[in-house]
Amino acid sequence: MKRAIEEHVGKTYYSRGLSYYRNGRVASLEVKSDRIIGRVQGGRPEPYEVVIDLEKREIVESSCSCPMVRECKHVAALVPHPLSIIM
Ligand SMILES: [Zn+2]
Repeated sequence: MKRAIEEHVGKTYYSRGLSYYRNGRVASLEVKSDRIIGRVQGGRPEPYEVVIDLEKREIVESSCSCPMVRECKHVAALVPHPLSIIM
């Protein structure tokens, strides 16, 4: 999975996402069959809403309410979370 997300967001955002996770910026995370929904604290007071769509444990698509819209560090920040183990 680490490789999948690294390919999805790229090396830079992957490592930024990791430090986001380690710094406790993942405010919430919910797993619904093949969708991971999370909220990640970014540079604004309100956390960003992140959605990762999966199919057969592969990342199909990601989206985020930050200016990057998708494939960002907020997406990567959800992956080390224990609930993301299904991926
Ligand atoms: Zn984002």
